[in-house]
Amino acid sequence: MNKKYIYESLLNIVDKENVKLDEPMKKHISFRVGGPADILVKPTTEKQLSEVISLIKKESVPYLIIGNGSNLLIKDGGIRGVVIEISNNFNKFEIEGTTVRIQAGALLSVVGKAILKEELKGFEFASGIPGTLGGALAMNAGAYGGEMKDIVKSVRLMDTEGNIVELTNEQMEFEYRKSILSRTDYIVLSADIELKKGNYDEIKATMADFTQRRVTKQPLSLPSAGSTFKRPVGHFAGKLIEDSGLRGLTLRGAQVSEKHCGFVVNLGNAKAKDLLDLMYVVKSTVNAKFGIMLEEEVKILGED
Ligand code: FAD
Repeated sequence: MNKKYIYESLLNIVDKENVKLDEPMKKHISFRVGGPADILVKPTTEKQLSEVISLIKKESVPYLIIGNGSNLLIKDGGIRGVVIEISNNFNKFEIEGTTVRIQAGALLSVVGKAILKEELKGFEFASGIPGTLGGALAMNAGAYGGEMKDIVKSVRLMDTEGNIVELTNEQMEFEYRKSILSRTDYIVLSADIELKKGNYDEIKATMADFTQRRVTKQPLSLPSAGSTFKRPVGHFAGKLIEDSGLRGLTLRGAQVSEKHCGFVVNLGNAKAKDLLDLMYVVKSTVNAKFGIMLEEEVKILGED
C-alpha cells in the first residue's frame, strides 16, 4: 500500500486530528501492548465511514475495525493497513420508553448509568464491561448470567459496499462470545436494545453487586483484556489454570494474575510477545494436565 497516498486521501474525508500515521496501538488497547498501525482513522459520521470504506476497498488496503480495544492483543510488529476506530466518534444514544437506541462507539458503562436513571432493567450485566456497543455485539459480551443476545432487538450495520443493513436478533447469530460479525465484514453502526421497566433501587443494588464482584475478584489495576481464554464446556478456564499450579506464573513482563488465574496481565512493560509466550505455556500446561486445549477469547491481531 502507498501509505502517503492513502493518508492524504483520508485527509480529504476526515479532519486532520482524526487520521494518524504510524499510530502506536498500545494507546488504543487495554492490554497496552502492540506496535504501530500504518494508519488509524476515526470517521465521525456514517457518510465519512462509507467513504473511508470505499477508498480502502478501491485501493485494496487491509483494514481492521476496533472499538475500545478491550478484547484485543495487537502484536509488536503492529498492523499493516488501516485501523478504523469506532469509539467516542459514534457515542450517542437515546432512550424511548423501554427501547434504547445506541451508537456503536458508546461505552456500555456510560449507557448503563443513563439506563439506571430511567429505571430500566436488563442491562445491569453489561454496565461493568469496559467496551463499546459494537465490540459487545461482535463478542456477544456477557457477564453474571446475562449476554447481549438477551437484550438486542435489531442492529444497523454497514456492509463493505457502504450499504446499510438491518438485522434482527436471530440474524445476528449470537453464540457464546461470537456473532455474525465473527464471520463477516459488517460494521456495527447502532442497535436498538429492549429492556423492562424496573425499580431504581433494585437495579442500582444489582449493578453495585456486580461492580463489587469485579473489584474483589479481577486484577483491575493491571492492563489486561479481561478473561484471556474462553470457558471450555463444563469447566472454568481460571480454575483449570489454577489447578495446573500456574497462579502468578511470570514470564518477563507478563503474568498469570495472582488475583484471578483467568486473566493474563501486563505487569507494566510487557511486549505482546511476552503475553503470547505466557499464553502458550498456560495452554500447553493445562492441556498436558487435563487434556483440554484452551482457546483464546482475546483476539490476537497484527504482525510479529
Ligand atoms: P474491541 O476490543 O475493540 O474489539 C473486539 C471485537 O469487536 C473485534 O473483533 C472488533 O473488530 C469488533 N468490533 C468492535 N467494534 C465494532 C464495530 N463497530 N463493528 C464491527 N465490529 C466491531 N467481556 C465480556 O464478555 N464479559 C466481561 O465481563 C468482560 N470483562 C472484562 C473486564 C476487563 C477488565 C477487560 C479489560 C475486558 C473485559 N471483557 C469482558 C472483554 C471486553 O471488554 C469485551 O469483549 C468488549 O465487548 C469488547 O468491546 P470493545 O469495544 O473494547 O471491542
